[in-house]
Amino acid sequence: MRIACIGECMVELSEQSDGSLARGFGGDTLNTALYLARLGVAVDYVTALGDDVWSDEMAAAWGREGIGLGRVRRLPGRMPGLYIIRTDAAGERSFHYWRDQAAARDLFAEPGAAETRAALAAYDLVYLSGISLSLYGEAGRAALFETLAALRGRGGRVAFDTNYRPRGWPVREVARAAFRTALAQADLIFASVEDLDWLFGDAGDGEVLRHRGRAEIVLKASTGPEPVARVLHSTSDTVVPAEPAARVVDTTAAGDSFAAGYLAARIAGQAPEAAATRAHRLAGTVIGHRGAVIPRDAMPALDRP
Ligand code: ADP
Repeated sequence: MRIACIGECMVELSEQSDGSLARGFGGDTLNTALYLARLGVAVDYVTALGDDVWSDEMAAAWGREGIGLGRVRRLPGRMPGLYIIRTDAAGERSFHYWRDQAAARDLFAEPGAAETRAALAAYDLVYLSGISLSLYGEAGRAALFETLAALRGRGGRVAFDTNYRPRGWPVREVARAAFRTALAQADLIFASVEDLDWLFGDAGDGEVLRHRGRAEIVLKASTGPEPVARVLHSTSDTVVPAEPAARVVDTTAAGDSFAAGYLAARIAGQAPEAAATRAHRLAGTVIGHRGAVIPRDAMPALDRP
């Protein structure tokens, strides 16, 4: 069983109180790949990087986490995207991006796309998010959807996480169409009610629930005192609550780690409801630490690498 996670990881600069910048790396599907690797799942990150030193360091860091690098394309003369996290006097964080020229956006552009597409179609499972969809433009997305159809034609499966970021989509109708296509191709859907309402308006969950029976669906709702995941598969429909978090420090990568915990548990043969409990436990631990990636020894005991 081998998984491919498709997307973009960027250089992250966080502004310190004296104006200096601390460097890290970040990206939603990369976070999921990282936690999958820690949970013992064989996973490759499928993206494009440049041939600069930051691309080298990023790939080396992924490799140290056990993520497979065999499908990382390196585009000569290109660079990764970059963002700065600024924290204001009240402690509110804002994110500022330079990503339009990022190498990752050309994953489905020639030269090289044909090889990537053939390789992708051979995985057992491909995981991607709404942010992945926003990277490629119409032609790239069409190539991606054709590739997912080829994968499914061979018996491979697709997992889609709705992660919707309005700034990635200048025209909301384009996002709606892309999400509808991805949802129709997904065998496993991770959706947050909040994302769906932003994208589709009230009752956005209907766009996901129309796939019940055909797809396995995990619908996350974070409103109310404790978050819940509604798990739907075949005819069953169960609400799995999260344990109240001991402390919430930084919710970055909550959804990304949730997806990893769920997928790892399902691959290990656990039932969907048990997988949701395990996913809540990992996400609940991740939000108790600063940043997307927690120390290895902070992983929940059962999930420790
Ligand atoms: P995202 O917005 O990144 O998709 P969600 O808000 O959907 O993340 O949260 C994902 C998961 O993170 C939840 O299902 C839950 O397991 C965990 N989580 C998030 N916030 C809390 C919280 N306050 N208490 C406990 N768990 C939480």
